Amino acid sequence: MTAKKPPVLTLSAGPVQSYPNVLQAMARPIGYDFDPSFQAFYEETAHKCGRAMRQDEPALILQAEPAVAIEAAAASLISADDVVLNLASGVYGKGFGYWSARYHKSMVEIEVPFNDAISPAAVEAALNDHPEISVVSVVHHDTPSGTLNPIVDIGRLVADHGALLIVDAVSSFGGMDIHPGDCHADIFITGPGKCMGGTPGITFVAVSQAAWEHMERNPAAPRASALSYLDWRNAWSRSAPFPFTPSTAEVCGLAEAVDHYFREGPEEVWRRHALTARACREGLKASGATLWAAREEIASPTTTAIAVPEGLKDTDIFDVARRDYGVVMSLGRGATAGKLMRIGHMGPTAEPAFALIAVAAMGGAMRKLGFPADVGKGVEAALAVIDDQE
Ligand SMILES: *Cc1c(COP(=O)(O)O)cnc(C)c1O
Repeated sequence: MTAKKPPVLTLSAGPVQSYPNVLQAMARPIGYDFDPSFQAFYEETAHKCGRAMRQDEPALILQAEPAVAIEAAAASLISADDVVLNLASGVYGKGFGYWSARYHKSMVEIEVPFNDAISPAAVEAALNDHPEISVVSVVHHDTPSGTLNPIVDIGRLVADHGALLIVDAVSSFGGMDIHPGDCHADIFITGPGKCMGGTPGITFVAVSQAAWEHMERNPAAPRASALSYLDWRNAWSRSAPFPFTPSTAEVCGLAEAVDHYFREGPEEVWRRHALTARACREGLKASGATLWAAREEIASPTTTAIAVPEGLKDTDIFDVARRDYGVVMSLGRGATAGKLMRIGHMGPTAEPAFALIAVAAMGGAMRKLGFPADVGKGVEAALAVIDDQE
């Protein structure tokens, strides 16, 4: 397989292969955004996204990739009077603190090694030590680590404290049972480009009444800006104008991704994500690899990360798997780059059959590079997890 030829199979942790019906929806003719039919469609889509998140309100749709929407949450919500508690268990969690720093009064940070998770007890202690904390930020699934934070427990503590909670659920929502109401989130950010099998250029967000009020009171909350939540607050309504042109094709794709989720049934979608991840973990362990997560309970059902074995290079594993098997997997990112390899189980790739391919490709590549991977044992272990299902 040459570099020019696209891979046979992409098992990345985002962006992911999209469902064909999502791509077809994006190819619909583009209409005028102020045409009543598009405005009605946009309103329906906002309600649909709200329902997917089990909210009564329509979702806020933002015309940008989720990273921009997370930066915009910092800009819009965090005022010069706010004391932020930032929870960092990975690259995205740590990164939020840098955005927050542009706006907040001060910040308390809990940082754990990037193979670990934030403990609710540490959050409770920080909230007790700093009663002035008014905003808390957490990433549910820090994708470059493939690990989950216990946001239901964290959310309860934050709610009891009376602070506002920002949750980055970009790579967990849609792939597992988590919704803004489950974790008392005031801003819950996600998008179709990971577990929903859509494309990565659009975001939807659940925003609580308290968060809107906080933004309205924030004199520095951006207006007429790509970082503004307030500009788009009412854009869901067919009778309100768009601040600027919405990403019409991405809106069509988003609507179809959410329809796909409902048609299949959320429980079934979560089930195949969890099963694929379990088959991958068992397969990789049996082949001799070491999971990156410090404890298996915190390993994500939407991404499986293994430590790069001593003496091997991540980019070599990537290259061999791609060149010889046509399979693309994710590298680490930022602080986890070079230390781990990741297999995404998101949307269309959250299928147990892909766990067999991933285990074989990962093991095969590592074996070629001199690591004594037992590929046969790995594939058998993955198969046993799948067979156990029936
Ligand atoms: C993918 C992802 C994002 C968004 O990043 P983009 O670069 O906009 O795709 C944000 N947070 C997490 C945890 C993610 O996995």
